[in-house]
Amino acid sequence: MGKYDKYFLKGVQPWYEDAPGPTVVHMDDTHIKGSHYYFVHWVLKAPTGMPGLDAWGEISHGPHIHKDAELLFHIGTNPDDPMDLGAEVELYMGEEMEKHVITESCVVYIPPGFIHCPWRIKKVDRPWLFIEVNQGPLHTEKSYPQLVPEKDRKMMLFFDERYGEGTKIVLPEGITTQHEGVWVTPDKDK
Ligand SMILES: [Zn+2]
Repeated sequence: MGKYDKYFLKGVQPWYEDAPGPTVVHMDDTHIKGSHYYFVHWVLKAPTGMPGLDAWGEISHGPHIHKDAELLFHIGTNPDDPMDLGAEVELYMGEEMEKHVITESCVVYIPPGFIHCPWRIKKVDRPWLFIEVNQGPLHTEKSYPQLVPEKDRKMMLFFDERYGEGTKIVLPEGITTQHEGVWVTPDKDK
């Protein structure tokens, strides 16, 4: 037992947040004082860990903002071509929903208060790593479901946290999670 063991985090922790792939680490200021928010997980060929979610086409993250800057790292695992993501991901930027298609390893910088997403995994040929960094002590998020057509909202995840209205997670219909208390059940009225 080392004095500094507390600085080494890995795998599933008591505060583990559901991810649609195996989690490497999930941490913020409540786990290590002074830390920013980091969420690292694998993206496999098909989602895992969220009952009812069987294919990437069944979920995307709806449009939202954060109080702090966010960095979205998409890291491919092809040793013969490190810039190859081995997957195709769509990311929409700004209120005008400018479409970007990510097929190479990259990081996307999201300024504070900037509307981004849907973020949608179109296909995965080779597992890759997703690293989400919020440059603030705790994760914040405000959703903008009104920016997408009603019919598309049913396939999206919407997350509201720390914008003064409590925490609310709306998942696509038929998808649940395994960690009660961290996530709430879908709100059919939203
Ligand atoms: Zn975001």
